[in-house]
Amino acid sequence: MKKKTCSWLDSNIRGGIQILNNKIYPCCGPSKPFYDSEDLDYSALSIEELMEKRRKLQQQINEGTACQNCEQIVEKEEEDINVGPITYLSIGLFSTCNLRCRYCYFTHDELSQKLKPERTHLLPFIKRLTEHGVMKKDFSIGLAGGEPTLFEDLPETLKFISDNYEKPGMVLLSNSSITSKTKKIIDVLKDTNERFDKGLYTSIDAGTRATYKLLRGRDLYREVKNNIINYAKNDTFNRITLKYILMFDHSNTSNKDIFGFLSFFKEVMKYQKGIMAMTIDCDMLSKEPFDDKMIAAAGKLYYVATEIFGIEVAFCGGGLVNSTTVGKERIKLLQEYARNYKTARKPLIERFYLLLLGYSSTLNNINRLFKLYKRTIRLIKILYFQ
Ligand code: SF4
Ligand code: SF4
Repeated sequence: MKKKTCSWLDSNIRGGIQILNNKIYPCCGPSKPFYDSEDLDYSALSIEELMEKRRKLQQQINEGTACQNCEQIVEKEEEDINVGPITYLSIGLFSTCNLRCRYCYFTHDELSQKLKPERTHLLPFIKRLTEHGVMKKDFSIGLAGGEPTLFEDLPETLKFISDNYEKPGMVLLSNSSITSKTKKIIDVLKDTNERFDKGLYTSIDAGTRATYKLLRGRDLYREVKNNIINYAKNDTFNRITLKYILMFDHSNTSNKDIFGFLSFFKEVMKYQKGIMAMTIDCDMLSKEPFDDKMIAAAGKLYYVATEIFGIEVAFCGGGLVNSTTVGKERIKLLQEYARNYKTARKPLIERFYLLLLGYSSTLNNINRLFKLYKRTIRLIKILYFQ
């Protein structure tokens, strides 16, 4: 018999939980939180109760008393539904951050909040979930904030996950601007389980120091660049995604910023052994039209990423998402711009930038091929001669 389930509740689909400050939600959708209390103590939370709340919500969805009309509801055979172990855990226990981005959805008061000791320790909560056996062996964790590197026990937590799970995944949504913290992450992730899939997601949004300072509130462009290059040089993450959020007041849509960012991206690519990806987005708090300057800036980013770097571009997050009608229309416009841009006669300065990016990208690829060739030869030697 078919029954309703929700992708966020069903362990065979997303099977997640979202934690934001003092609230625990069943999903990142419009649902009511399971818990909402200033004094929520994650290290003392009843895990049985939390899991029971998930099962109860599933029952209410079928009774028609919760989440009606949510697009995440699907129908499945009853025996294929499993509101059981957690597949994805999204964690943001505080809003505190060292930056002050103009597009941030936290207020300055929230960003400046003093960190409470019980909110800066993640390990006790992860240990409790592990002791209760409620996380899948290949579960993924999304670490956000505020700024998640401010978790005091982040390195120990990552080590614990690596040691106790067979094939875990992790995405760190960090601004990568705190050098002392990035060094600790490099140290711990160097020696983790080989099957640990580790991703970094950092928004850059500028191609110059001045624009970075204007948009993010602090002059840390150089630090961010060095930190991410260090991550790449130390093979810290399997995947690095750099994001560009376009601002509707055109403060970061100039060629200087767009090509400056692309050159930053290319630098990281030079050292990153794993995957590199780009996310193009626009400020979701603004209601202004996605005008020609926005389309041109997004189109150039898309063109260079897909045609010159040959990498994947994801649209997720704010005003450029595949899941809304407005987002889909904007993506269509920027992709059309990129198609025309490919064959259009470009201003001399843009041709110069593109030539430089193309040249170094080709060198990168040759270098990668050479490394691959050396690795293959080494493997053949091991197989046949040792
Ligand atoms: S049905 Fe929708 S609102 Fe309800 S828990 Fe699932 S994703 Fe959230
Ligand atoms: S880095 Fe993130 S949390 Fe910090 S101010 Fe910027 S948008 Fe907000």
